[in-house]
Amino acid sequence: MSAIDDLPPLRDVIARHDLRAKKQLGQNFLLDLNLTAKIARQAGDLSGTDVLEIGPGPGGLTRGLLAEGARHVLAIEKDARALPALHEIAEAYPGRLTILHGDALAIDPSEHLTAPIRIAANLPYNIGTELLIRWLTPPEWPPFWQSLTLMFQKEVAERIVAKPGSKAYGRLALLAQWRADAQIVMTLPPEAFVPAPKVHSAVVQLTALPQPRYPADPAVLSRVTAAAFNQRRKMLRASLRGLHPDIEAMLLQVEIKPTARAEEIDLARFCALARLLERNPGR
Ligand code: SAM
Repeated sequence: MSAIDDLPPLRDVIARHDLRAKKQLGQNFLLDLNLTAKIARQAGDLSGTDVLEIGPGPGGLTRGLLAEGARHVLAIEKDARALPALHEIAEAYPGRLTILHGDALAIDPSEHLTAPIRIAANLPYNIGTELLIRWLTPPEWPPFWQSLTLMFQKEVAERIVAKPGSKAYGRLALLAQWRADAQIVMTLPPEAFVPAPKVHSAVVQLTALPQPRYPADPAVLSRVTAAAFNQRRKMLRASLRGLHPDIEAMLLQVEIKPTARAEEIDLARFCALARLLERNPGR
């Protein structure tokens, strides 16, 4: 099998730079370059596209993204030990890889990127959900990115793509599916990573919709889904009581049974309720 580039195998890179994985940085590395190229392909056509990568580590996915033709990759890495390995990749792809050393939660990447922009990452699990929520809740929609291709623990991936009626269905599914098409495109066993995590992982592909699937004010929708799912075992007439004195009548008006529970209600109905509450603020 031919190598994806002329750079050394990742095991050699890790040994040479003494990149022993650190648990507190969520480090589970992908060393199989065929696999990282496959993940990069899930991100879509990368030619003519800037790619933001969070947590490149030794650079397996970075190499996949560049080999698959990304115009430019901006990689943000917190661990200084990984920087020499990343600089070697930058030299092999002149002008196409920019490396920023720092915390992805504290860096605004937009000034280093030119549209169209895709985001791809094998995320550190401790900040994955926080980053996803940030990318899904920008001040304006459409966001700065076209698509997100992200590795999560499988259980989190299932919460992102979940449909009504399932245990995994909740605020994360509603938020993701309100503004994006979301699907699991790959699942990976623990052995795909070094060191192997305890659980399976999955890659989720999210493609930004030009506008939210149904109209609703983001803050009102968020308030409704928070109230509904924070007490997900209660009937909606009880869990949503604090939102409006006439909540029972309002639920009926948007064809939601007041005795139903949050997990039975689809996105269209939650948005309808948010619009009704916005028109009739109770308190
Ligand atoms: N992309 C590499 C791969 O697939 O082999 C590494 C993935 S590893 C799961 C997560 C990476 O994110 C590590 O390199 C870790 O150092 C980095 N990281 C952890 N917290 C970070 C943060 N707050 N900002 C940027 N990078 C972070």
